[in-house]
Amino acid sequence: MAPVTVITGGSRGIGAATARRLAHQGHDIAFCYRRDHHSARQVLADIHATGRRGIALAVDTTDPDQVTGLFDAAADLGDLTGLVNNAGVTSPIGPITDLRVDDLRTVVEVNLVGYVLCAQQAARRMNTGGAVVNVSSAAATLGGPGEYIHYAAVKAATDTLTIGLAKELAPRGIRVNAVAPGIIRTDIHAVSGMPDRPERAADRIPLGRAGDATEVAGAIAFLLGPDASYTTGAVLRVAGGL
Ligand code: NAP
Repeated sequence: MAPVTVITGGSRGIGAATARRLAHQGHDIAFCYRRDHHSARQVLADIHATGRRGIALAVDTTDPDQVTGLFDAAADLGDLTGLVNNAGVTSPIGPITDLRVDDLRTVVEVNLVGYVLCAQQAARRMNTGGAVVNVSSAAATLGGPGEYIHYAAVKAATDTLTIGLAKELAPRGIRVNAVAPGIIRTDIHAVSGMPDRPERAADRIPLGRAGDATEVAGAIAFLLGPDASYTTGAVLRVAGGL
């Protein structure tokens, strides 16, 4: 039986790279996204081109009923074996004095509530063991000063969620790990008002450049796969030395 993996936020960026990577490695994939139907169709076509099965659904991960619908759809592919909790957002970059309450709430809802809802579904449905990878951020330990302290704090919560889930689910053969990307070239920087952030930040990254989404996807694939069979509760930094 092929592994069956749910990926949240699979239409673009790190989630899309992960969907393509895992399909190449033989996973059947159900992924969700919010509104970018065009990109989602492209990712789905790439999954099908590998010969694997794929499902793409417009599902908001902050809505418990929609999340249940995503996992119900994934069940059509077989028993769930993997979850990549990836759908995340930032808000306009700036000091905490400028932070709007609506943006704060959205960051908490998508990056924390959404992750917990999806992890809960996975925990309920992984009856024969499995693996979860939460996409955190290097910001969790750097703090995001002057940019997005609230986002960094929520990503630190992702790391704690990873540790707690790993311990709670280990007796059932479910491993839970996180990746903590640094600055990766995706659309997320345009949404936060600084599309050229990856280029601007290159000087302060020890490896001298921003990362590519495929480089994060590789780490996610490792943590999901058999080479990580004794790895749980880990946060793997993929940040070029940041
Ligand atoms: P991205 O390119 O902006 O893509 C975000 C994806 O998440 C899209 O597929 C988007 O769907 C989806 N999404 C957003 N909110 C959603 C919701 N409420 N429900 C369902 N899907 C939703 O972002 P990315 O850079 O790949 O980031 C992916 C993850 O990596 C996030 O958790 C982010 O915090 C983390 N991360 C990114 C970086 C970086 O530098 N890029 C660094 C550290 C951590 P639509 O396209 O349909 O809206």
